[in-house]
Amino acid sequence: MSASLRGLMQDDFPLTLHHIRRRMRACSPDAQVVSVVEPGTVERASHAQLLERIDRLARALRSLGVEQGDRVGTFAWNTQHHLELYFAIPCIGSVLHTLNVRLFEDQLTYIVNHAGDKLIFVDDSLVPTLEPLARKLPGVSHYIVMGDGDAGDLPNALRYEQLLRDAGPGEFEYPELDERQAAALCYTSGTTGNPKGVLYSHRSISLHSTGTLISDGLGLSRGDRVLAVVPMFHANAWGLPHGAALAGADLILPNRFLAAEALAGLIASERPTLMGCVPTIFADLLRYADAHPEVDLSSLTKATCGGSAVPKALMQDFEARHRVRVFQAWGMTETSPVATFSRPRERKHDDGYWDDRAKQGQPLPWVELRLVDDAGAEVPWDGESTGEIEVRGPWIAARYFKDESSEEKFDAGWLRTGDIAAVDERGFVQITDRAKDVIKSGGEWISSVELENEVMSHPDVIEAAVIAKPDERWAERPLCCVVVRDGASTTTADIIEHLRDRVAKWWLPDEFAFMAEIPKTSVGKFDKKVLRTSLSEGTLEGRTPVS
Ligand code: ADP
Repeated sequence: MSASLRGLMQDDFPLTLHHIRRRMRACSPDAQVVSVVEPGTVERASHAQLLERIDRLARALRSLGVEQGDRVGTFAWNTQHHLELYFAIPCIGSVLHTLNVRLFEDQLTYIVNHAGDKLIFVDDSLVPTLEPLARKLPGVSHYIVMGDGDAGDLPNALRYEQLLRDAGPGEFEYPELDERQAAALCYTSGTTGNPKGVLYSHRSISLHSTGTLISDGLGLSRGDRVLAVVPMFHANAWGLPHGAALAGADLILPNRFLAAEALAGLIASERPTLMGCVPTIFADLLRYADAHPEVDLSSLTKATCGGSAVPKALMQDFEARHRVRVFQAWGMTETSPVATFSRPRERKHDDGYWDDRAKQGQPLPWVELRLVDDAGAEVPWDGESTGEIEVRGPWIAARYFKDESSEEKFDAGWLRTGDIAAVDERGFVQITDRAKDVIKSGGEWISSVELENEVMSHPDVIEAAVIAKPDERWAERPLCCVVVRDGASTTTADIIEHLRDRVAKWWLPDEFAFMAEIPKTSVGKFDKKVLRTSLSEGTLEGRTPVS
C-alpha cells in the first residue's frame, strides 16, 4: 500500500480574528459602523477609527491584568463599544463572554460565577440591572461603565472612555494565537437545568463568519449595510458583526431601541440592505409599516429571520406590501448559530417556491445534518418522516464549558439539537417541533409549529402559540393561545373556519385562550414553559370553539 501524500499548502495558517482585524485595515478602512445613541441620533466610525480604539482597548485590558484565557463579561446592547470589545478581548487571547441582559438575577449570578468572569463591561443604561447582583459576584474585580450615565453603587467602577484615553495611541502588539484557542463564550438560556456555556474558538468564529458571506446563505457582501437587531449577547448576534467586518460591509447597531417605531425610523434613514432578527420583531415591524405606509423599508432586500419558525404569511406580506424580502435561517447557540438557510431557486408559476421559503432551508456548506428516531436509527430524507436533527461541522459545539452533566447532548461527534424535523430529498429541512413541545394525540404527532403558522396566517391574528393539554381519551390535545389585533372581534369559530382547509381535521385545536400577549423568553421567543405552567396551575383556561 502506498503512503498518503501530504499536501504542500500553508495548512498551519491560523484562522483567528487577527485576520479579520488586519483585513478591515487593509481592505475596508472606510466602511462604517453606525451606532444609535438615542432614537434619531447616531454615532459613526470608520473601520480605521474603530481599529484605533480596539488597539487602545487591548492595551487597557492588559493594564487591568487581563491575561490569555481570562473571561471578560459584557452586559451591553448593540453598540460600537460592544463591537470594540468583540474584537479587542479575543485578539489579546482572552474570552469575550456576552451576558444576556434579559435573564433573571439567579441565572445571571450563576453564569458569571460559572464562567469566572474577571471584569464586566456594562452599558450605563444597564447599571441598575447589574447593581443588585454585584455583591454576589466575588470574582469580578472591576466594572467598566460605558456611557456617561451614573455608575451607581457598582464596586471598583471605571469609565470606558477614560480607560481608552489613558491607554494612549499607537498599534498594540497582539500575541500570536492558536486558532483552537477560545475566543467567545455564550450561555444558552437553559431549557432544563442550569444554563450551558458554548465556548467558541477563533477557528469556529472565523469559519462561521465566512459562512455568513455565502450567497445562498445570509450573503453578506461589501455593498451591504447590515442592521444587527438580534442582540449581541445572543449567539454573537448570529455572526453579523464578524461577517460584516470580514466582508467590509457597513454595520448598523440599534442599541436598546428595538420597538417598531424606532427600528422603522432607523431603517428609513440608514437604508440597511440586510437585517437579522426574530419573527416577533419582524411581525411588529410589519404591523407598524402597514399602519404607516409613508415609512419606506424597501432597502431591506436581504432580511434574515430565525430563532423560531418564520410564518410564511409574514414573509409574503412583507414582500407584497413593502418590498422587503425576508429569508429564514435556523440554528442555535451551539451552532454559532447559523446552520441552515432557506434561499430556494427562484421559480415562476410554482407555489412550491413559497413552501420552500417557509422551510428552515438547506444546511450551509460544512454543516452536516441527519435525522435520528427514538431508537437511534437514521430517518430517511423523504419530506415526510420525522426525527431529531443531529448536526456536525467545524462551527458546531463539541461539548459545554465546564459541564460534564450533558453528555447526552452529544452523540459520537454529532450534536443532538432537540429539534424535530422532516428533510426532503433536496436537503430542505422543515422543523415540526422542539422535542419538548410536540403534541401527541391518539398516538399521532401534531406539529405545533405548523399549526401556529396556520393560525398566524389569519389576518387578525398577531401571535399564536400551541401547547399540549392533557386529555383522557387522546393523551394530549392542542390548546391554542392567541393574540388578535387591537379592535378585532375574531372568534374561535372564525379561526377554526380559517384552519379548516389548511390542516387535518384532527389537528383543529380543541381549545383557544385569547390573551393580550404571549409570554416571551429572554431572547424574544414564545415561552411555552410559562404557558404550560399556567395551564397546570389552572390560571390558563381555554375556550372550546362554538361550531
Ligand atoms: P434557546 O434554547 O434559548 O431558544 P437558542 O437561541 O440557541 O436558545 O435557540 C435555538 C432553538 O431555536 C433551536 O433549537 C430551535 O428550536 C429554535 N429555532 C431557531 N431558528 C428556528 C427556525 N428558523 N425555525 C424553527 N425553530 C427555530
